[in-house]
Amino acid sequence: MVAEHRLYVGRFAPSPTGPLHKGSLVAALASWLDARAAGGRWLLRIEDVDEPRCSPEAADTILRQLDALGLHWDGEVVWQSRRTALYRAALERLAAQGDAYGCACTRRDLESQPLASDGARRYPGTCRDRADVRPRAWRLRVPVGEVAFDDALCGRVAIDVAADSGDFVLWRADGYCAYQLAVVVDDADQGVTDVVRGADLLTSTPRQILVQRALGLPQPRYAHVPVVLDAQGEKLSKQTRAPALEPADALTDLAEALTFLRHPPPTDVVASGREDLLAWAVQRWTLAALSRAT
Ligand code: GLU
Repeated sequence: MVAEHRLYVGRFAPSPTGPLHKGSLVAALASWLDARAAGGRWLLRIEDVDEPRCSPEAADTILRQLDALGLHWDGEVVWQSRRTALYRAALERLAAQGDAYGCACTRRDLESQPLASDGARRYPGTCRDRADVRPRAWRLRVPVGEVAFDDALCGRVAIDVAADSGDFVLWRADGYCAYQLAVVVDDADQGVTDVVRGADLLTSTPRQILVQRALGLPQPRYAHVPVVLDAQGEKLSKQTRAPALEPADALTDLAEALTFLRHPPPTDVVASGREDLLAWAVQRWTLAALSRAT
């Protein structure tokens, strides 16, 4: 009898604000390996919802970089910039249910508020129960109390979203859908069962769970992998000028990322090339190697 595989749909969801670097490779590779090791599908979603910060050139570069790395995705690439109608429908539903409300506050109104874990200002709820608001942005009415989930790597995570960020933004004052709403709508619409991504997004997850609950959507399994730090202990990012991955270095970059992910490949496997290296890694991949990491 053939063992039945559980349904597995994973995804990589880069924002095309710049090319992939060694940090984004770790997130891409971990989610690709987890999907392939489970015999699952791996989708690619370009998160270009924040149009002013994204560029088509960066998106193009990311597709070419993934191809050079041998991280092939299933099906068509999904572009967030083409899915505004879907996000708008979700917002309208939340507003009709009373779970989202319009907010007229400006950045200046909020500048004395403490910073939340995502770097935005905590929202004190000024417009929560006002009827006379001309909305600039839309916010989720966040319930009091902790939101908890079990992360495959970080264990039980519980965050009091109301105390941390308060009612966070679903639709931005500049007219674009916010990441927290778009990501939830897309993960559900694409049938994503397993989200494997960088631990920098760990505190976003309880917010996304609140949106899932309000929309009656299923909650995927989550695994947040360690982020790569530079010599100064900062997360590699475009802001810290992490160099772009070069297609010619694909093999050594993959070997390095595997070592970071606690699957150091033997030199003869690396020497035999990209396909063999990836096949070796798929066979051995286990998230447990990372949870044993100190
Ligand atoms: N687009 C987000 C980023 O590049 C990742 C979103 C996600 O994996 O949920 O940081």
